[in-house]
Amino acid sequence: MGQILPCILDGMDKDLKNKTLPELEQLVTQEQGRTFDAKYIFSFIHEKHIGTIEEISPLPKSFRHRLIEAGYRISSLDLVKRFVDPDGTLKFLFALPDDTRFEAVLLRDGDRNTLCISSQAGCKMACGFCATGAVGYLANLTGAQIVDQVYQITRAGHSAHNIVYMGMGEPFDNTQEVLRSVRILNDPAGQHIGQRRIDQVGYRHAAAYVHAIDSRNPAANRVIDYGLDDGVADGHEARLVNPHEYGGRDG
Ligand code: SF4
Repeated sequence: MGQILPCILDGMDKDLKNKTLPELEQLVTQEQGRTFDAKYIFSFIHEKHIGTIEEISPLPKSFRHRLIEAGYRISSLDLVKRFVDPDGTLKFLFALPDDTRFEAVLLRDGDRNTLCISSQAGCKMACGFCATGAVGYLANLTGAQIVDQVYQITRAGHSAHNIVYMGMGEPFDNTQEVLRSVRILNDPAGQHIGQRRIDQVGYRHAAAYVHAIDSRNPAANRVIDYGLDDGVADGHEARLVNPHEYGGRDG
């Protein structure tokens, strides 16, 4: 058996939606299930969007009950309200379990939609021109809470041609959860939307950003590879990157 990841061992994070597929494989092994059941759990959560462990029908009943008794759960964001701005921009107000609120925005450009998701509620960066900066920092979002913005908005019938991490928060101030969310969105066992449509991860994001997981920009791929393969695996934060160094666009 491989090394168990600390986030599993600490017992604090029982949200199955907040696990990458490799993390689920380790969790299933830890809970004495069959390794291949991890893929059922992942695809039922991230592709079929079931809301309870009971609904993961390919799992043996006894294993479902074991997971439930061990305190595992599948989280879901509370979508509080939807607004439409005069220019047609759609805004979605979400609430965390403690009622901390944050927004995601769907920007329309002709027949293309860009979904702008949040990585934090509020933000520490205090950029002078930004309303979120004036709010201050409220909370880091988990990977599950980041991907759930995508799921809830697209499942409400809004297509998203691009996904950008440019809502509330500085993504590289919540690097591990942002990278976790990218891994989950990108996984072929789930939505598999990363490489095609996840376009930007912010760095003081109104000022500068890098392309992330963008096959047209191999240098930027190396940047995100650093975060995915080395930064997270070794427990270090991904390196903050000057986008000009890698041919990124100005923000
Ligand atoms: S990093 Fe982004 S969200 Fe945070 S204050 Fe600056 S512009 Fe606003």
